[in-house]
Amino acid sequence: MVEEPLICAYGVTEPGAGSDVAAIKTKAEKKGDHYVLNGQKMWITNAGHANWYFVLARTNLDPKAPAHKALTGFIVDRDTPGLTPGRKEINMGQRASDTRGITFEDVLVPKENVLIGEGTGFEIAMGAFDRTRPTVASGAVGLAQRALDEATKYALERSTFGVPIAKHQLVMNMLAEMAMSIESARLVWMRASWETDQGRRNTYYASIAKAMAADVANKCATDAVQIFGGNGYNTDYPVEKLMRDAKIYQIYEGTAQIQRLIIARELLSRASSNPSS
Ligand SMILES: Cc1cc2nc3c(=O)[nH]c(=O)nc-3n(C[C@H](O)[C@H](O)[C@H](O)COP(=O)(O)OP(=O)(O)OC[C@H]3O[C@@H](n4cnc5c(N)ncnc54)[C@H](O)[C@@H]3O)c2cc1C
Repeated sequence: MVEEPLICAYGVTEPGAGSDVAAIKTKAEKKGDHYVLNGQKMWITNAGHANWYFVLARTNLDPKAPAHKALTGFIVDRDTPGLTPGRKEINMGQRASDTRGITFEDVLVPKENVLIGEGTGFEIAMGAFDRTRPTVASGAVGLAQRALDEATKYALERSTFGVPIAKHQLVMNMLAEMAMSIESARLVWMRASWETDQGRRNTYYASIAKAMAADVANKCATDAVQIFGGNGYNTDYPVEKLMRDAKIYQIYEGTAQIQRLIIARELLSRASSNPSS
């Protein structure tokens, strides 16, 4: 992938199923040496550029079958007949990123393209987040840092009541709060990544990092707009874009609410399996 280079995309979400991954409806029926895929994906990043997709589909059509057995991951080439990416969605922010739906109409996928094995798709799809959430968190921290950098520069240049606004204590407070939250969020995504380097399951830290960095990015972008005053609300200045770009960090890769559910579940399961610690 690096040599060519090739681009791939992660196709899990559907129009009717985002947080509730187990509710996906895209189905894959085995016929001879192939699976036949039918269904629809939504909000797929890089759908218009990818050479191949990871596609999560239902291989056990029994509605009572549990997700951890009923879903299978497939590698699907972009050029497969019947696979059609939709129009580029017009989003609030991160507009350079390509987000599209994909439709699958009788898409034939060779059985060799099943990832790991039939029925393992849910585990693969969820396991991927342990690696991707710290990376997404680092992006959110980068956005927050830019918000602080822009706000600091502006606060030194803009004067009110005869002094740079950086001298007003309420503005200083906003800058200090931004710095504190950025430094903390940066350490948490590093901790989550370090856990992976140690060969340990990092679900708990990955969700803490992602949830915290997303909130920090949103608070810092909003406060940067505040420090810019009326100019902050205008497209001639950089911070309104940061505010629009920040919001998605609380939605994709698992929403802010889903991260909190994961963190609490991990915490409670550790506590109940080791009550004395
Ligand atoms: C720009 C963009 C890029 C994306 N890229 C990809 C991608 O590359 N691949 C991919 O597969 N998906 C992608 N997604 C989809 C994204 O992961 C989902 O939008 C997200 O998981 C939320 O799902 P949903 O939109 O269906 O919202 P819903 O699941 O309908 O949630 C709606 C609201 O209800 C809350 N909620 C839901 N369930 C619970 C619960 N149990 N407890 C408390 N609150 C709850 C949510 O937190 C949210 O606030 C992308 C989305 C966007 C907007």
